[in-house]
Amino acid sequence: MEKLLNGIVKFRSEEFEKYSDVFESLKNGQNPHTLFIGCSDSRVVPTLITRSLPGELFLLRNIANIVPPFRQSDEYFSTQAVIEYAVNILNVENIVVCGHSNCGGCNALLNYHKFDFSRIKTVKKWLSLGLPALDKLKAISDNYSMPVKEWMIEQLNIIEQIKNLLTYPYIAEKYSSKKLNIYGWYYIIEKGEIFNYNKETGYFEPINM
Ligand SMILES: [Zn+2]
Repeated sequence: MEKLLNGIVKFRSEEFEKYSDVFESLKNGQNPHTLFIGCSDSRVVPTLITRSLPGELFLLRNIANIVPPFRQSDEYFSTQAVIEYAVNILNVENIVVCGHSNCGGCNALLNYHKFDFSRIKTVKKWLSLGLPALDKLKAISDNYSMPVKEWMIEQLNIIEQIKNLLTYPYIAEKYSSKKLNIYGWYYIIEKGEIFNYNKETGYFEPINM
């Protein structure tokens, strides 16, 4: 905890001073351009890897960057509430679903039927939302090596979550009328590289401007 407390003090005297104009401009509201849906993994830091400032990214993070299919319900839906607010109130221009290498959630998904979920039953239920990606992987081939299967499930999971986004009526409407862009990104932790999903080719391609 001491590290965090020292960080707060240093933030105030260093970064906050550096970006004081940005913080001042944001005091009355936000106008983020992008809803960033990423994994809760501590190694994925959306603002760092995109060099974004406060006010730019509206964040939704959960285990394995999953988007549950749209449902009408009176239950407490955190994920759906974030998406609804970002799209219908903040009017974001972009939604990014960002998966990553060495994802623990995707690894558990890959081994779903033999993984020990005994102490993480909520996680088991949550990851069941990713099973369509596992089915896709098995349909392609079951003969790949484990490292290959790992990055394949991580990438297939991103594609499935993009499909799930389009089950939200207001997203489908804005996407089809070109008021909203949807991207799938794959971040490789140890290389700092991000690959963008090309829906025409079906491949993730490196982002190099
Ligand atoms: Zn992850």
